Amino acid sequence: MRNPTATRLLFEMSESGRGTVVFPESDVPDVSGVPVPGAEHLASVLLPLPELAEPDVVRHFVNLSTLNMSVDSHFYPLGSCTMKYNPKRHERLARLPQAVASHPYQQESQIQGLLSVLYELQGMLAEISGLPGVSLHPAAGAQGELTALLTAAAYFRHRGEQRTRVLFPASAHGTNPASAALAGFECVQLSGGRDGFVDLSELRAQLDERSAVFMVTNPNTLGLFEKDIATIAAMLHEVGGLVYIDGANMNAILGRTRPGDFGGDMMHYNVHKTFTGPHGAGGPGAGPIAVRDFLAPFLPAPVVTFDAVRNWYSLTEPEHSIGRMRSFFGNVGILLRGYCYIRTLGGRGLREASDCAVLNANYLLSQVRDFLDVPHGHRCMHEFVASAKRLKEQTGVTAMDIAKRLLDYGFHAPTVYFPLVVEEALMMEPTETESLATLDAFAAALRQICSEPAELVKGAPHTTAVCRPDEVNAARKPVLCWSAQC
Ligand SMILES: *Cc1c(COP(=O)(O)O)cnc(C)c1O
Repeated sequence: MRNPTATRLLFEMSESGRGTVVFPESDVPDVSGVPVPGAEHLASVLLPLPELAEPDVVRHFVNLSTLNMSVDSHFYPLGSCTMKYNPKRHERLARLPQAVASHPYQQESQIQGLLSVLYELQGMLAEISGLPGVSLHPAAGAQGELTALLTAAAYFRHRGEQRTRVLFPASAHGTNPASAALAGFECVQLSGGRDGFVDLSELRAQLDERSAVFMVTNPNTLGLFEKDIATIAAMLHEVGGLVYIDGANMNAILGRTRPGDFGGDMMHYNVHKTFTGPHGAGGPGAGPIAVRDFLAPFLPAPVVTFDAVRNWYSLTEPEHSIGRMRSFFGNVGILLRGYCYIRTLGGRGLREASDCAVLNANYLLSQVRDFLDVPHGHRCMHEFVASAKRLKEQTGVTAMDIAKRLLDYGFHAPTVYFPLVVEEALMMEPTETESLATLDAFAAALRQICSEPAELVKGAPHTTAVCRPDEVNAARKPVLCWSAQC
C-alpha cells in the first residue's frame, strides 16, 4: 500500500510546457517538409516523456534517495549480511583513474600495477584463511561456493573418484544446497543437534566413499562457533571427502583463527560483507575462494602469478583449470575496496575489528535477552538469533511485525525467518563500528515494541513511504515499468 505522502513519479508530476530545454535558432535550412528516404521505417510518434524543470527533477531524486534505509543513514543489523560501514577512502581508491580507466583487454605490460595489487590481495586472502590457492573470480559468495564445488569435482575426477554427495546442516544458508545442486551433486541435509551444532553421530552415519564435500558455516548461522570443527574435518578426511567453509561469517574470526587451521579445505570470502564493499540491492560483490595446495591446480583461469626474476605479473591458467567462471578477472572495483580495507587495518586491526564485532553482538544479546528468547547459546560470536515465538503465542505479534515496527523507530530491521531452525527468528548482527549509544537505543526500541499494543505493531510501519507491500508478489511479479494505465 502506498502512503499518500510518498513521492509522485516524474510522469505524474509532469506538466506540459514545464520543460526547460531551449534549442538555439536553427542555422541550417529547414527541410522538415522534404521526404526522407526510408522514412516509413522510422518511428514518428512523439514519446510521452515527462516535462519538468531541472529543480523538480533534482528534488525528486534527492527525496527519493532518502526514502530507503542504508548503512550511511541508519543502524542496519541485518544478520548474516554483515552490513558494515563502507569507509569513504575505499571509494576514493577504487575510483582512481589507474583503476577505472583501465580495460581488461589491455596488455599485461600496461596493467602491471593493477595486477600487482590483485596478486597482493591473493596473498592476503591466503594468509587470512590459511589456504594458499586463491581465485579472485567469483562475483559473490554464492558463485564462490559453486566455483569451489566445481574445483572439488574436477579434483575428484582427476583422481578417478566417483563422489556424488554434498552434505550440509539444516542451518545452512540456502545458497549452499543451491550451489551443490548446480554443480551436479546430490544434496544431503543433516537435521542437526538440538543445541544448534552439527550432530557428530548423524554426520558419521551419512559419511562413506560417496561423500564429496561437507559444507559448513563457521561460526554457524546461529552465531555459534562449531567447537567440534576439527573433529568434523578429520571425519571427512578419513573417508576421502573435503570440508567447505562458508566464509560469510569471517567477520567474527579474522586474525583469531583460520579455516585452513581448523580443517577447512576450501572457503569463500564475501568481500562485500567482511571487507566493507558496499552491498545490498543486488550491487556488485566479490566472492574470492581460497583452497588447499592440492586443489589449486584446478582453480578457474586466470590467476595472477609473479615472476620475481623478471619482476613481472602475469595472468596464468592453472594446470588443470576448470576454465572461466566469469569474464576477465573478477569484480575488480570491489576487490580494490577490500584490498584497501585489509591494508588500512593490517593484521592486528582486522583482529580488533572482529573482536569489536563479537563484543557488540554480545552486548546487544545481553540487552535483548531481557524481553526476547535467544534459544541457542548463552554467548554468541558476531551475531545471534532471537525468537519472537513466545510473544506470538501471547499477543499474536510476529517476528515480521517487530521488523516492520522497527522502521518507525528509525532502524533497519534484523534478518527475519532465517535460519530456518529457529521459529520466528530475528537474526541480529550489529557489526563493530556501532557505538554503545546506538546499541542502547536499538535495544530500547525493541523492548518498547515488545510491550506495545498488538494492533499498533501489526499495522506498522506507519511512517514510511510504503507500508506493507505484498512481499510474495513484489518478489515474484514485480511491476518495474510505469504505464499510464496503472
Ligand atoms: C551472504 C551469505 C551467502 C551468500 O553470499 P552472497 O555474496 O550473497 O552470494 C552464503 N552463506 C551465508 C551464510 C551468507 O550469509
